[in-house]
Amino acid sequence: MGGLPRFQVPDGWVARGWRFEVETTTPAQRPLIAQHFGARRFAYNWALVQVRANLDTRTADPSVPPLPWTLPTLRKAWNQAKVDVAPWWPSCSKEAYACGIADLVSALHRWSASQQGIHANRRVGFPKFKARHRDHGRVRFHNGAMRLEVDRRHLILPVIGSLRSKENTRRLQRLVAKGRARVLSMTLSEQGGRLFVSVATVVAQGPSRPSQPHARCGIDLGIGNEWAVVAHADDAIERITHPAPWAATQAERRRVARQISRRIVGSRGHRQARAKLAALDRRAANLRRESIHTLTTRLSRRYGTIVVENLDVAAMGRGMGRRAFRRSVYRAGIGQVRPTLAYKTSWAGGRLLVADRWFASSKTHHGCGGYLTDLSLHQRVWICPKCGALVDRNANAALNLRDWTGPVTDRDVQRGGVAAPVPLVGDHDGQAHAPSVGVRGPVRPPQVARANDTRTDPPLAGTRNSEQGYQARWPKRGRSPGNGGRLVAAEAGGTMRRSWAMPGPEWIWVIIAIVVLFGASRLPAMGRNVGLGIKEFKKGVTEGSRSDDKDVPGKPASTDERERGTTP
Ligand SMILES: [Zn+2]
Repeated sequence: MGGLPRFQVPDGWVARGWRFEVETTTPAQRPLIAQHFGARRFAYNWALVQVRANLDTRTADPSVPPLPWTLPTLRKAWNQAKVDVAPWWPSCSKEAYACGIADLVSALHRWSASQQGIHANRRVGFPKFKARHRDHGRVRFHNGAMRLEVDRRHLILPVIGSLRSKENTRRLQRLVAKGRARVLSMTLSEQGGRLFVSVATVVAQGPSRPSQPHARCGIDLGIGNEWAVVAHADDAIERITHPAPWAATQAERRRVARQISRRIVGSRGHRQARAKLAALDRRAANLRRESIHTLTTRLSRRYGTIVVENLDVAAMGRGMGRRAFRRSVYRAGIGQVRPTLAYKTSWAGGRLLVADRWFASSKTHHGCGGYLTDLSLHQRVWICPKCGALVDRNANAALNLRDWTGPVTDRDVQRGGVAAPVPLVGDHDGQAHAPSVGVRGPVRPPQVARANDTRTDPPLAGTRNSEQGYQARWPKRGRSPGNGGRLVAAEAGGTMRRSWAMPGPEWIWVIIAIVVLFGASRLPAMGRNVGLGIKEFKKGVTEGSRSDDKDVPGKPASTDERERGTTP
């Protein structure tokens, strides 16, 4: 297929992304930036029209030659057409149009790869048209006048000009000045009204060694109070809780969310409360990112080998029971730890091992190998059935991970991605992205294990995997070969899905409420001109209402009282 110029990082260099929040320096820049975002979107949509038109014509008449999905072809077509379709084109950098077309090309190739089953991870749909309210603004510059200013406070982008960085750019600027970093592209993007410039670079990096190259540590990640438990090489157990400011944002978040729900949608107060919530979420994400980076940097510089669990975070977030629980999976950011460790260990000269997904790290006693068959998610401690010791769940799991001796293939080491050759053309938000490594499906473990073995759970169809807590099923046979027998996430969460044909309990309550309300007041009045059924209903209601009059003197009592003979 090709089409994407693949950038190969030279030996001794690593791909690295930098992100700076910026602000405009002149008032004219804001509309200009918005125009560039729009120009990228316009070129993307225009190219998509060409591609779809070509596909449609070819369906009707297969002799029409296919339009190659490559950047040079589409860009050439754009340059011929732009005078007619976008007479305003000279006001934006040509990079804006090139960026839109390049993104479409990579989207088309992702779709095509997904159709052929190359992407093991998820299905990718055919590219859709971008609308202003859906597409978050961004534009990428590959060449032109872009640089970091020597004052370490400003970045220059083509046409847009100088943008002031809110953070000192010293670390990158120094590397660039010394010739140890090369800027590949700069991406300007907008998030929640804030502007960011992501700089994709390659950085020269000499060989390095962790301080304890032969030592190992294990990390058990969780979503409870103990966010991470680290088993160090010297048997020390380190418990890392959620950072206190982060926990404070979560409490504050609940309060502000309640505030929003009480205000009128579209009002000024509602807008203000929403802005407050967005600011809290941003703060929480920043705090979380910081804690992930401090932990991973510290461990990767120290240990030669780091072992983590293979958590299927996407399936945990979808499939687990309570909504609050699923939400906390994402909030704890445990999905970010492994990829971060993967590239940091490779930078530091160590390696990352990923334990088998079905390795029962929580249920096997580290000291004696005793195995608890039934451990629920909320149990923090348990008693070993073999030696009777009280076992701390998280610390035990971290120790088991540290001493994990499962099969290690190259893929295991690579899993989670390393800062390896990255196609720096697709939109990575300027961050060095890991190439999507095909993940092998769970290997069916032996059904029988000796007592002293560290056992691997044989998950049965539809049973609850208490290690991770979601409904796991073995992949069905006869799947597409590209899927490689992987546990499909939709299957993991499939049991939760509900169709419209069967209204759930909340709908039944709504229906009951409507019937009660209408039956009490409206239906008798409405029923006058309707059918016989309503008339009978009305009659029943009016007879019923007569019974209310029984206390009024001089009025005839209701039928049932007359029958019972309570009134003379
Ligand atoms: Zn034991």
